[in-house]
Amino acid sequence: MAEHIDVVLSFDVDAETLWEARDPDSATKPVWLSQGRYGPTVGLPRIMRLLSEHDIPASFFVPGVVIERYPAEIGMIVEAGFDIGHHSHTHTWAQNLGKEQEREEFERAYRVIEEFTGRAPRGYRSPAAEFTPNTLDLMVEFGFEYSSNFFDGDSPYLLGDTDILEFPFSWHLDDAPFFLYSNKLPGRVMSAPSDVLETWTLEFDQLRQEPARCLVVAMHPQVIGRPSRMWVLQKFVEHVLAASDARFTTFGALTDELRPRLLAERAK
Ligand SMILES: [Zn+2]
Repeated sequence: MAEHIDVVLSFDVDAETLWEARDPDSATKPVWLSQGRYGPTVGLPRIMRLLSEHDIPASFFVPGVVIERYPAEIGMIVEAGFDIGHHSHTHTWAQNLGKEQEREEFERAYRVIEEFTGRAPRGYRSPAAEFTPNTLDLMVEFGFEYSSNFFDGDSPYLLGDTDILEFPFSWHLDDAPFFLYSNKLPGRVMSAPSDVLETWTLEFDQLRQEPARCLVVAMHPQVIGRPSRMWVLQKFVEHVLAASDARFTTFGALTDELRPRLLAERAK
């Protein structure tokens, strides 16, 4: 397809791990953790229904322990035919881990996904929006094909001198900075759903006017999955579907399509 814009809806199904990573005493705080439980149990089914109604694909990143805790819910993603990317095992921020611990975390999550889905994960998104000096080496060693972590582009590119395709995004294309709130997270305020819809549709409309375009939206079922916020996703999907030069796709499909060409171009 010539001159078109690709849109990838990506979902980090963090469940309780999002909160556990922010407070080591989480196990004693059932209400705190219940914020995360909403993701796989209520938000995710709602998202899967929306994707199914519009017959559009999406990409998912799921921590290993979330697969272990919610096999039925995460199984919906696999049944729908969508890939599950690597998002660490426990969502612990790797900066807080030693080199060996980071490796153990990484390998454990890799094995859980491999066993659960029957295939190795192809993509990685860091749980902490950051790499340690060892993260990229681990991705290369385990044969990862794509990454969605960095904030330095509007189109996929090869990550450093690796064969890994990076799908950059940015905080304004993430639901958490607008919506993630807790009385225990200082300084947080919530945006109106209309603010978020305006931001995402404007980004799409502006980027659409440029060549080589790929818009990545990063969401969390526990955040976007609330009814008033699902309105944002629904309206955004309708806006994209109304554009004749746009298509929803996945990181995996785009990797198959773009990576061989980018690797060949680099080899010249
Ligand atoms: Zn996450």
